[in-house]
Amino acid sequence: MTNQNPILNAYFRLPIQMVRGDGAYLFDAEEKQYLDFASGIAVTTLGHNHAHINHALEQQLRTLWHCANLFTIPEQQRFAERLTEKSFADRAFFCSSGLEAVETAIKLIRRYQYTNGHTRRNHIITLENGFHGRSLACLSAGGNDYAREGFGPLLEGFTAVPAEDIAALEAAITDHTAGILLEPVQSEGGVYPLDHTYLREVHALADKHALVLCFDEVQTGFGRTGSLFAYEQIGVTPDILTLAKGIGNGFPLAACLMTDAVAACITPGSHGSTYGGNPLAMAVGNAVLDALESPELLRNAAEISAYLAEQLHALAAEFPSHITAIRGVGHIWGIEVKRSARDYMLRCINAGLIVTKTSNDRVLRLLPPLIITRTQVDDAIAMLHNVFDA
Ligand SMILES: *Cc1c(COP(=O)(O)O)cnc(C)c1O
Repeated sequence: MTNQNPILNAYFRLPIQMVRGDGAYLFDAEEKQYLDFASGIAVTTLGHNHAHINHALEQQLRTLWHCANLFTIPEQQRFAERLTEKSFADRAFFCSSGLEAVETAIKLIRRYQYTNGHTRRNHIITLENGFHGRSLACLSAGGNDYAREGFGPLLEGFTAVPAEDIAALEAAITDHTAGILLEPVQSEGGVYPLDHTYLREVHALADKHALVLCFDEVQTGFGRTGSLFAYEQIGVTPDILTLAKGIGNGFPLAACLMTDAVAACITPGSHGSTYGGNPLAMAVGNAVLDALESPELLRNAAEISAYLAEQLHALAAEFPSHITAIRGVGHIWGIEVKRSARDYMLRCINAGLIVTKTSNDRVLRLLPPLIITRTQVDDAIAMLHNVFDA
């Protein structure tokens, strides 16, 4: 026993205690209000204290919390039907966190090749500067040197190539290659939306070499980029899609979607998750999807996104000595800054605007909920303005 903080020191944690949330706002223990342009890192996409989602969760918690996947779970069935109807996918697997969805995807890529007789094909091509979570497999697929240090040996069979270099990707394909795993928008890596032509070329290469293509949409999925899934804007479909973060609006929930061709490699007993798809999580998932089906919400979000982009570019034009670039799409934006992004982040939070930074400490990241209004954008821009002006 010591007097130290009993919580593992894995985060740069601020002493501010958040005690309440409402829409796009968080309130601390002193009732100070913060405009939440981080959404718990792309999680509370529909805002805090959402009436419809709260209601669905309350209903379900009085009915049934948990039930093993030994039984048919009606809410799970319904969520899978809706997700597959709205996407390229034929099947869904549910789990509880982003890394679990990516682990599932990595296993599916290998096992698909294995069950199709290509037992030597178990290598996966990834992109440099990618992020896929913190398990050993996910760190092997992405993750920077700092996140990997001291955790070796990592898994074999991952080759990272530079993003947007199709020749490098093609050159990396060998007899051992099983699939390609990438984020359509590299988010933790600094908010880099990948060129759509490049992504279509990646798709064509995957097709040509019979590789399994997986898009990691843990951060970009569920409305973050302006469509339910980011891939819809690219014009190609992956074979596997990973989802988490926004899918549960704060409830621990994740999914891995896939085609029937991929799904055929899994048989009862070959994969699983105890909590995956439990009734509480599925009730929330369905309610989040209900809310995202609102054409008004999406129309409004598209308008606000364009307005936010315009305002951010104006800010960059006004402060060239601080800001070197603005990148983003939908409701994920990066402000590349000349000095430590963490310093700017702390000043924003102090001013009442919650933003995050990406892992390289050179990019401030804005991840507002889809429900923000024009006035809230104006407020955020005014606070950013003050921070850059100081
Ligand atoms: C956050 C993230 C993950 C990991 O999700 P966890 O829920 O933290 O395990 C994986 N991939 C991407 C693209 C992410 O942004």
